[in-house]
Amino acid sequence: METKIMVFPHRYVQGPDVLSSISEHLSVLGISHPLVLIDPAVIDACRKPIENDLGQQDMQCRFLSFNGDSTWAEVARVKEVCIDGGHDAIISCGGGKTLDTGRAAAAGSAMNCGVVPPESMGDLGAGVACIQIPTIASTDASTSRACLIYNDKGAFETVLFVPTNPAMVLVDTLVISKAPVRTFVAGMGDALATYFEADTCGRTRAMTVAGGLQTHAALALASLAFDLLITHGLKAKQENEAGVVGPALEAVVEANTLLSGLGFENGGLSAAHAVAECLTPFKDQFDVPPMHGEMVSYGIVVHLLLEDKDLKTLNQVIAFCRSVGLPITLKDLGLAEISDQILWDLANETSKSPLIRSMPDAGQALDDDGRFYDPDNIFHALKTAETR
Ligand SMILES: [Zn+2]
Repeated sequence: METKIMVFPHRYVQGPDVLSSISEHLSVLGISHPLVLIDPAVIDACRKPIENDLGQQDMQCRFLSFNGDSTWAEVARVKEVCIDGGHDAIISCGGGKTLDTGRAAAAGSAMNCGVVPPESMGDLGAGVACIQIPTIASTDASTSRACLIYNDKGAFETVLFVPTNPAMVLVDTLVISKAPVRTFVAGMGDALATYFEADTCGRTRAMTVAGGLQTHAALALASLAFDLLITHGLKAKQENEAGVVGPALEAVVEANTLLSGLGFENGGLSAAHAVAECLTPFKDQFDVPPMHGEMVSYGIVVHLLLEDKDLKTLNQVIAFCRSVGLPITLKDLGLAEISDQILWDLANETSKSPLIRSMPDAGQALDDDGRFYDPDNIFHALKTAETR
């Protein structure tokens, strides 16, 4: 397969107080009557600027509070409200789950990739434009076509791919600068892995999340994300601690959101995300449940050890993580008890993850034990990572 594919949102807007000019960007897209799905935690920060601006332009909108989890039921509820109100877009304003729900509820159809073979869902959402307003910079999913769905008990259930990327991703850096520092740093962990995973996928010619081979552009964007983090990461964290929008925070928001988003979807995922995904079932055993980007930060150290990367690169990544407070061991992540049995269980699960197929030594089909990768090698990397 030689086809390269690259996908993008139609419009990306970033800057301090851009919420107060949202109508201008909606007008460009021909949107005049949106439904705004909003996380109750950000109503104070976000509702008024949106309401004021749309009101001044005589644009009608309705606000709908997000229920707290991206479940099938929540997607269906948002879809119904959108259709009943005759809205022409769903704006999602909040954290990852609010945004996931909005992407799914706005989409006309989707592919459910959590079942084998993937299942086509013809009438998942309302079939209107999708606008994403991330209020924390903790993950890179807002630019993408992927939506995570959870069951009623809050456990991960499946991943959906909607046909198109959002019509617009709008990031108000004033809102981000006031968000918890931990979320911002976790986003750096997610973005830190993007280049190394894309580099691996490029070398092994692995299929990316976009469904084709990687473009040179995707690798360049992922590389830029890494450079921005190394150059501006620590200062950006300090600006976030001070609650101010400075040039470093602006640069890292772009790395965490736009570059990491385009980078992972078009560059590909690999061992770092396989480890992070396989840590999720252990979440109850941590002192505080780790965030996605924190698990990816640990995962990238394991990834680099598995690839036997040069010491200079490994030390650069570790030094960066230490400087901003990203975890590089399970101990840092707050795992209460670390035994060989736990490391083995994690290694075994990771060896079965489809994401690890993009690693150089991976098999493309499951072996007789249901694995893509030698679990002994992963176990050794996990043991070595813990010595840091
Ligand atoms: Zn990620």
